[in-house]
Amino acid sequence: MPGSSTSNDVLIIGGGIMGLLSARELQRAGARVTLIDKNKIGTESSWAGGGILSPLYPWRYTDPVNALAKWGQAQYPIIADTLTRETGIDPEWTASGLLILDNLQPDEHNTIATWAKTFDSKLDLLVKNDIRRCEPVVNSKFTQGIHMPDVAQIRNPRLVKALKVALLAAGVNIIEDTEVTDIVVKSNHVTGIKTPSGDHVADHIVVASGAWSTQLLADINVTIDVKPVRGQMIIIDAQPGLVSKIILENNHYIIPRRDGQLLVGSTLEDVGFDKSTTEEAKQLLQQAAMALVPTLEQFKIKHHWAGLRPGSPKGIPIISAHPDIKGLFINTGHFRNGVILGPASARLLTDLITAKRTILDSKPYTI
Ligand SMILES: Cc1cc2nc3c(=O)[nH]c(=O)nc-3n(C[C@H](O)[C@H](O)[C@H](O)COP(=O)(O)OP(=O)(O)OC[C@H]3O[C@@H](n4cnc5c(N)ncnc54)[C@H](O)[C@@H]3O)c2cc1C
Repeated sequence: MPGSSTSNDVLIIGGGIMGLLSARELQRAGARVTLIDKNKIGTESSWAGGGILSPLYPWRYTDPVNALAKWGQAQYPIIADTLTRETGIDPEWTASGLLILDNLQPDEHNTIATWAKTFDSKLDLLVKNDIRRCEPVVNSKFTQGIHMPDVAQIRNPRLVKALKVALLAAGVNIIEDTEVTDIVVKSNHVTGIKTPSGDHVADHIVVASGAWSTQLLADINVTIDVKPVRGQMIIIDAQPGLVSKIILENNHYIIPRRDGQLLVGSTLEDVGFDKSTTEEAKQLLQQAAMALVPTLEQFKIKHHWAGLRPGSPKGIPIISAHPDIKGLFINTGHFRNGVILGPASARLLTDLITAKRTILDSKPYTI
């Protein structure tokens, strides 16, 4: 590691998917890593998310988002397999396929075709009967659709759990329930962090603190455009096999887990750091699910929760060294797509810290 000392090679603030995957890549690259979280590891957005391994309507995103997603899509089956072997926890990577039922604008078809060619992605245009053949329980009112057979999902709460177990086994130092109150900078170089239970020395610090990254950085006069965007989800306790595809319409989706539970998401709410749930959102999500699959009327809602996404302009994350503060790195702002963008973001960050050739052009993600 460039500039390493007797301190931790790298201290990562935030044990969500971004911190966990970054810790894994850095540890594999030979760094001594400490991962610190104000709560238990993996209990914020990375737990709350849906685990769809593609941006929704990916052609509506910029190439920098799609480039990270494409890299992650190739890696996820390997990550899931390795973690299952290493930890006995199966994060249930499943190639469910994605069925989109929106009425698209005529001019969107060209954009979709260009996107599919650029990112070598399979999709089939469906009309009425094809839709029911693809997913028999779908409401018969839908007359057009797009099937993306290669889109997969992962059970993100299990993914973060498995990552934590794997990191501990690999010797990563994990500190939970400890809030970082300050990043210490001396002569334009990070030297460590402060917490209520003591200080830690580090010559590389990664801010992977999700929606909370902005405040932590503002305290050392670093400005980023990342803010919390609340997302609410429900689980409907249905039967295994009732729904097999991820189904999406008008930004609402159903994700079928292997055990028959159906996750229904999600809302996009600008309410600051308020993580409470609302009756209105619960009803909206239930109605959206029933509009997609009418038989869901007979099943009960099992759980309802909210998480805070690290929202950023156009969903383009910041994966970057700070240009003026030596040793300061940032990996945040993944908005709606942190699970799928995680593997490439973590590798790119590691390439930057270890001064290796980067897997992707790092410019679009620079602070
Ligand atoms: C409802 C919903 C649905 C989603 N669906 C999907 C999906 O289907 N696919 C997808 O790819 N993405 C999805 N996402 C987005 C994805 O979950 C996020 O982009 C991703 O989890 C962000 O990861 P993160 O590690 O940056 O943030 P987080 O998981 O929020 O982790 C940040 C961590 O930093 C810690 N922290 C913050 N401040 C401090 C501090 N001062 N000191 C110590 N620790 C600190 C927090 O406790 C937290 O654990 C969804 C999100 C939501 C809310």
